[in-house]
Amino acid sequence: MNSTTSNSADIAIVGAGIVGLCASLLLARAGFKISIIDPLSAVPSLPEAYDLRTYALTPASLRMFKRLNVVAELEKHRICEFHGMQVWDASSKGAIEFSALALGRDCLGAIVEHANLIRALHLAIGQCEGIRLVSDRVIDIAFTDPMNILNLERGARIHADLVLGCDGANSPVRQLLGVDTQRLEYVQHALVCNVNVEHPHTHIARQRFLPNGPIAFLPLADTNSCAVVWSTSPEQARFAHDAPIESFEAMLASAFDYRLGNVRLASERMVIPLQKLHSARYVINRAILLGDAAHVVHPLAGQGLNLGLMDAAALAQCLGPHEKLTLQFPGAALRQFERMRRGENFAMLSFTDQINKLFRLEHRFIKEMRGTGMCAFDRFIPLKHWIMLRAMGDYGDVPSIASR
Ligand SMILES: Cc1cc2nc3c(=O)[nH]c(=O)nc-3n(C[C@H](O)[C@H](O)[C@H](O)COP(=O)(O)OP(=O)(O)OC[C@H]3O[C@@H](n4cnc5c(N)ncnc54)[C@H](O)[C@@H]3O)c2cc1C
Repeated sequence: MNSTTSNSADIAIVGAGIVGLCASLLLARAGFKISIIDPLSAVPSLPEAYDLRTYALTPASLRMFKRLNVVAELEKHRICEFHGMQVWDASSKGAIEFSALALGRDCLGAIVEHANLIRALHLAIGQCEGIRLVSDRVIDIAFTDPMNILNLERGARIHADLVLGCDGANSPVRQLLGVDTQRLEYVQHALVCNVNVEHPHTHIARQRFLPNGPIAFLPLADTNSCAVVWSTSPEQARFAHDAPIESFEAMLASAFDYRLGNVRLASERMVIPLQKLHSARYVINRAILLGDAAHVVHPLAGQGLNLGLMDAAALAQCLGPHEKLTLQFPGAALRQFERMRRGENFAMLSFTDQINKLFRLEHRFIKEMRGTGMCAFDRFIPLKHWIMLRAMGDYGDVPSIASR
């Protein structure tokens, strides 16, 4: 689009990350005319090496992607379904195991690379009418009734009935709206990398809780490859990042208690500061915040993206099929959306925050209690299964496109 161009859409989506692309598919299927704007809107190619960004997707997210024909576009040989989960405490005897078989399910989720998912979403969008991808950056928005006006960096304008902010944790849309936001920077950074491990991962996701934070080895498609997310102190993360490769590999294997034997680094290393964030409101007149723009959770439960995907599904469900009346008076549908999602997101924010705090307490008595509590929980099958099925999106207020 050039500087003189002005366009209109029913819904303008700011941000073509996974949440924005998924929202565009859901809403276009309902008949809305969508413009989705992002400076990084090109279809990524899949490099031979695994992407550094990988996600544990819940069965609920996978069901939705299947129904949106996104799964059909994924490179299947690069996805790893996992059938078990092991969580243990480095400071006590506490350990918990989950198994898909015991739950009567095929899998507990799947590890998918960011590039694989983005590529598949673009391919699915290519087969869907009513979505226009605009490669540009939104620099300002006039939130006016009945039409919002989005100003883009290269001078173009877009008029839209509704604006969705799917523009990530530092959301410019949230900032332009001036919404109060509760934000806490954790004194933890995540070091992420991919590794080759000595022993096969056997399709199990593993996480060990250390005093500075958890270290997770997530199984990748190749049976001896894992994605690592190591949440630790900023100093240790930086030290590990800068360490010579051999010392880093030894550090990593030891932090993971040699559960998969020795490790070999198979990618670059990246350090990401961790935070929790919750926007005081998701809906302001005709603007809606989704995904990380509305909430950021600690990665220890692998839920951040899954929550954003359920936001997108819930919004599409509340808006229903395209109708002029809904676009003229969206208030009731948007209030319903906020009611549906705020509680779910808040519960996960609090849960991950409390778990993170609990495992960092180093008092001897607390460590013993923690170990005993974990073992008791592991044996209390009905509660354990109920919690796992809820985390997988089998229970709770799950949007119908993602439900069983
Ligand atoms: C270490 C780590 C591990 C994680 N592991 C998991 C996991 O296993 N499972 C899980 O569910 N979640 C996980 N998460 C969380 C997950 O990464 C995020 O929740 C998810 O990426 C958020 O997606 P999003 O689309 O909301 O935002 P983003 O991915 O941040 O996308 C935002 C998009 O907005 C665009 N944008 C920004 N500003 C503008 C503008 N002005 N105009 C136009 N476009 C704009 C950006 O270019 C970008 O494409 C993890 C997070 C971390 C840090």
